[in-house]
Amino acid sequence: MSLLTAWFSGKESVEKTSRPILSEILKTMRESVIVVGKDTRILASNRAAYNAFARNNGALEDKRLSEVVRDLALHEAFRKALEEGASSDIELELPSIERRKYDVHIAPIEFEKTKGAIGIFYDITQIERLERVRQEFLSNVSHELRTPLTSILAFVETLEDGAINDEENNRRFLKVIRRNAQRMHHLIDDILELSFIESGGIALAPKSVNLHSLIEEIFTNLSGKAKQQRVKLKNEVPKETFVFADAVRLEQMLTNLVDNAVKFNVKAGSVTVGFARKDDRDIISVTDTGEGISAEHLQRIFERFYRTDRARSREIGGTGLGLAIVKHLARLHGGEVSVASNPGKGSTFSVELPSKSA
Ligand code: ADP
Repeated sequence: MSLLTAWFSGKESVEKTSRPILSEILKTMRESVIVVGKDTRILASNRAAYNAFARNNGALEDKRLSEVVRDLALHEAFRKALEEGASSDIELELPSIERRKYDVHIAPIEFEKTKGAIGIFYDITQIERLERVRQEFLSNVSHELRTPLTSILAFVETLEDGAINDEENNRRFLKVIRRNAQRMHHLIDDILELSFIESGGIALAPKSVNLHSLIEEIFTNLSGKAKQQRVKLKNEVPKETFVFADAVRLEQMLTNLVDNAVKFNVKAGSVTVGFARKDDRDIISVTDTGEGISAEHLQRIFERFYRTDRARSREIGGTGLGLAIVKHLARLHGGEVSVASNPGKGSTFSVELPSKSA
């Protein structure tokens, strides 16, 4: 008879049968559990606790709690449980290489007439990280929206205060209002787009796409901007190159990269789109002759709102969300986007996609 059957049928004493079951449950728990005796010596712990706290120092049992975790609040909580029979909840932060944070519930327990205390450690590192990301995102969004809004309000007030009749300036003020409103519009579009992609809201419809033709189309759309900057657009993708991707999303990714390559270029520079097939990956590269990106920024430019020069990006109409959108779309295709740069000379952004035969 299995332990569980015995337990439920009541044929053996609950006490006797439940012990090994509970021991198995403790083993599989993700939460760390530590039980200490009167002198805060560890009497029992589960596998999760061993993985979290032992750090090559062998079993936790028989060690003093202070040898395993050095934290005043934790010790005080265990002391209170042992000496005063009081439960408590604390937050514990371990300054290890990868900072970990726990919500710990400490309570008194009694077994075989011995008094002890149990600590259950819930790892909240990931929840905390997500919360931080959420707060940062909110504060970035508010900041990015507030800047153009402040400008709009200021110019509306100026117009109201009489500038509306100032024939020389009123149109210029209206233009500034329009530009800032457009910036807010653009930002909101990008935020919605990013959250839509991140929530898994889009379904890709991948098919064979003629890459050469797609690049031609993108170049046509961006030709006005490129002309303004006197930037030359070069399509070096061989004519009959096909990649397997969602055509709309691929266009969106490459438009973003080519647009940046034009925006962050030097006057009379160039943007070259190339193609290579390596093993089972198709690599589309967008190379510019711009200012490049220094090593400290390279790691971070795919993060939301990260810009090497915030004021300049804003001036040229950036939201700081474009590369984050590209990253998500590339991943959604089972691919990746990467960047290599030679500061002062230019950058190459590469979108890698699984080739169709893969
Ligand atoms: P933005 O809307 O500012 O262009 P992105 O997410 O597209 O936002 O880009 C983030 C930042 O990465 C840019 O503000 C810029 O600092 C940097 N960046 C992107 N592309 C290039 C490039 N081709 N050359 C130099 N810097 C670039």
